[in-house]
Amino acid sequence: MNDGILSKKIAEMKKIGAHMNAPEWLIEALATPKRVSKMQFRSSVGGKMETLTAIRVHHRNPHPTGARPYKGGTRFHPGVTEELLTVLAMDMTEKCALAGLPFGGAKGGIAIDPSACSEIELRHITEKMTMEMLKENIPHPDIDVPGPDMGTNATVMYWMYNTVALMNHFRNIPNATAVVTGKPIENDGIPGRENATSNGLLIQLKEFIRIAKLKFKERPTMAIQGFGNVGGNVALLANEKKFNFKVIAVSDGKGGIYNPKGLNIPDAKAWYDTHGGFKGYARGGDHITNAELLALKTDILVPAAIENQITGANAHAINAKIVSEGANEAITPEANEILAERRIAAIPGIAANVGGVVVSYLEWRRNRGDRRHSVDLEEEHAWVEMELTKIMHSVIRNVYAKSKQEKCSLSQAAHMLAMETIQTLLKRKYSV
Ligand code: NAD
Repeated sequence: MNDGILSKKIAEMKKIGAHMNAPEWLIEALATPKRVSKMQFRSSVGGKMETLTAIRVHHRNPHPTGARPYKGGTRFHPGVTEELLTVLAMDMTEKCALAGLPFGGAKGGIAIDPSACSEIELRHITEKMTMEMLKENIPHPDIDVPGPDMGTNATVMYWMYNTVALMNHFRNIPNATAVVTGKPIENDGIPGRENATSNGLLIQLKEFIRIAKLKFKERPTMAIQGFGNVGGNVALLANEKKFNFKVIAVSDGKGGIYNPKGLNIPDAKAWYDTHGGFKGYARGGDHITNAELLALKTDILVPAAIENQITGANAHAINAKIVSEGANEAITPEANEILAERRIAAIPGIAANVGGVVVSYLEWRRNRGDRRHSVDLEEEHAWVEMELTKIMHSVIRNVYAKSKQEKCSLSQAAHMLAMETIQTLLKRKYSV
C-alpha cells in the first residue's frame, strides 16, 4: 500500500525546492533522516511470544537538539515500516516549522495490530519498547519527546512516562514529566489534548472558509473517513454549535454510514463503542464503503484514517469543495495536483492536523515549568483553546496568503513556507 511513499515524498520536495530555488544542501538535509534507531525485543502478542522491532526515526532538527527536542508520534499498526515512519517524521519537521514550534521531526512505532493484544500485553510491549529506547538516551524532554498516533493513546503515553520515571532512580532526567506528551490529564497531561487535532482542524477550517470568502447556502456538509481519535472527534465536534457543520457520513476501516440529512453522531458513536463498528446500525443512516464515502457529494471531505486514500486513481471522483487532510499523507502528491486542477481546495495535513502537536507543545512547556501548573482545569483549558486558535489561524492565513502570492495550491504553499523556515534555521546551525 505504501510502496514508494518515500521516493514520492522526496520527488515532491525537490519539485517545491526547485520552485523556491532552494540550495542543494537543504534538499540533501531534508531527503535523509538524521538517525534511525531499531530496537528488537521479545514480547507476547495474542498469547504467542514474538520478536518485535520498535523503530524511532529522527528526521531533522533545525533547532539545537538537547535544548529543543525532536517531536513525533508513536504508531502501533501492522503497516509500520521504516520507510513510512521516515515520511511521517519528515511531515513532523515541516509541521513544526510551519506552526513555529521549536521542535525537530520524529516518528516511531511497531508493526503490530494492537487489537490483537490484551491490555497487559500492550503494556508489556510499551514498557519493553521504552526500556530499549532509554538505552539510546530517548525519550528525553530535551532530546526526543514522543506523543500518541494511530493505535496508541493517553494510556500508552502514561505507560511510557511511568517506565521512564521508574528508571529515573538511576538516570535523573530533569523535568521527567515532559518526557512524552498526550498523557492523561490526571498524570501531567493537559486539558484539550485528546481532541486537539480535531478541534484544531475545525477551528482552521472555519477560518479558511472566512478568509477564502466561501459561501454555502446551508450548513456546510461534511464526510469523514476514519472514526478513531482524529476522525471520531472531528465528527463529534463538527455538529456542535461552535462549528455548525452537518456531518453526513463517517467510516472506519470496515466501511461507514451515510445520511444526506445529517447523522446523529453521539448515537452512532454509542453504537460504535458497544458493537465495535457500524455494522448493524439502522438508526438513521445507510451503509456505505470507504470508496463511496470518499466520492460523496459534500461541501467538505476530511480523510482522517490513514495515508494514500486519495490517489491518482480516485482524485477525479472527489466531489467536495474543500478537503482537509486529517490523516498524514492521505492525499498523494499526484492526487494533490488533480485536486488543484479541479479547483478543489485541499488543506494539507502539515497545516490541517498540526493541532495535535501544538497542544503537545503546550503540555511540554507546562511540564518543564515554562508555565505555572494551574489547578483550575477550566482556566487551563481556556488557555489551551486560546493558544491553539491563535496558531491554527495564523498557519492557514500564512498558507492562504502564500498560495495567492505564488499562484499555487495550498499544499505547495504550506510546504514552501515550512521549507523556507527550515532553511533559515539550518543555515545558521550548519554555517552554510
Ligand atoms: P486511530 O488509530 O485512533 O484511528 C484510525 C481510524 O482509521 C480508525 O477508525 C480505523 O478503523 C480507521 N482506518 C484504518 N485503516 C483504514 C482504512 N484503510 N480505511 C478507512 N479507515 C481506516 O488513529 P488517529 O490517532 O485518529 O490517527 C489517524 C490519522 O491522523 C493518522 O494519519 C495520524 O498520523 C494522524 N494524526 C493523528 C494525531 C493524533 O493526535 N492522534 C495528530 C496528527 C495526525
